[in-house]
Amino acid sequence: MVTLASVVPDLDGLRIIAERLTQNSPHPLNWWSDYHHVLGHNLGFALIVAAMAAIFAKQKITTTLLVLLSFHLHLVSDLVGARGPDGDQWPIPYLLPFSKHLQLTWSGQWALNAWPNFVVTAVLITIAVMLARQRGFSLLEIVSSKADAAFVNALRNRFPVKTAT
Ligand SMILES: [Zn+2]
Repeated sequence: MVTLASVVPDLDGLRIIAERLTQNSPHPLNWWSDYHHVLGHNLGFALIVAAMAAIFAKQKITTTLLVLLSFHLHLVSDLVGARGPDGDQWPIPYLLPFSKHLQLTWSGQWALNAWPNFVVTAVLITIAVMLARQRGFSLLEIVSSKADAAFVNALRNRFPVKTAT
């Protein structure tokens, strides 16, 4: 749930499919251009996601707090390093649906494809792989226990874990 909360704000980006499919039609839908970084990137959606975690998690308080943290880490990451290819900063209307007056941007924001994002991604993937090798489970367990076991097995065969004797 915590992992999913860190990516769920970008569900509003799926509207790009409708926009691309209708771009040459007489009535194009500008759903992605108009709503990406709007519908899923705000306090109201954060509260819905947190409520889902509070309802379905076994460790309700811890999970809900971590869900809120990872959700907001996504928003901060967008603010810091997600400038669009056209230079648009995609301001985040954080207080929606309660108020549309706060539009968060940061003047130092770098582009989505700028080098810091590649460095951060490489470092985080390396840490995730090291943790998977050490702990015996990986992110793949979200989608498949079999794939997770095969991945960890391959990792441990290539880089054996030292065991205490
Ligand atoms: Zn986002």
